[in-house]
Amino acid sequence: MAHSRGNLFILSAPSGAGKSSLINALLKKHADMKVSVSHTTRAPRPGENNAEHYHFVSVDEFKALIAKDDFFEWAQVFDNYYGTSKQAIESQLAAGIDVFLDIDWQGARQVREIVDDVKTIFILPPSKQELEQRLNNRGQDSAEIIAGRMAQAQSETSHYDEYDFVVVNDDFDTALSEIESVVIAQRLTLKAQTTRHQTLINELLK
Ligand code: 5GP
Repeated sequence: MAHSRGNLFILSAPSGAGKSSLINALLKKHADMKVSVSHTTRAPRPGENNAEHYHFVSVDEFKALIAKDDFFEWAQVFDNYYGTSKQAIESQLAAGIDVFLDIDWQGARQVREIVDDVKTIFILPPSKQELEQRLNNRGQDSAEIIAGRMAQAQSETSHYDEYDFVVVNDDFDTALSEIESVVIAQRLTLKAQTTRHQTLINELLK
């Protein structure tokens, strides 16, 4: 059975919608799905490892990568640069692996321009109250910091209508299976199945 090229998916969400947990659960369940590791100029948070969560680079290094045309897409998100290198995705897609990009709306816009059949998913939190609670879960931040995070979340959410699919992360398992449904549907398109099952189709039509 020939493998067809992997599919490209974009997952975007306001921070606090639970996107990272959903992506982690997806990767744990499916060995044939990968998430692209981005480059960023922001500092690592506790528990984040270089080359695993991000490639952590300086602003100069990031600009050098832009100059070399190494990025598939890149954007300034709040105060830092973030980008997906071409290298992070091309070999995986060529090997038939489905790749997820965990990127913001600006990156999603750029990728849509280059990849016709990218499928984009926007994740929403179940309510504003729940979002506020999630953004405040450490209980250590000032009201001003929380208000800033809420404003950022609203700004990202205002782009939800540029996406193909919208998933509300109320019940985690339901949200996970909804994302899986999008991936499965994409694997069953005429184009993908024709490549995958060419021998069968030829045999049936002989
Ligand atoms: P964080 O700093 O919390 O890890 O990520 C902040 C935001 O940057 C998130 O919305 C995340 O999806 C976005 N982001 C992470 N990597 C990339 C990337 O490579 N490109 C773009 N455009 N956005 C990214």
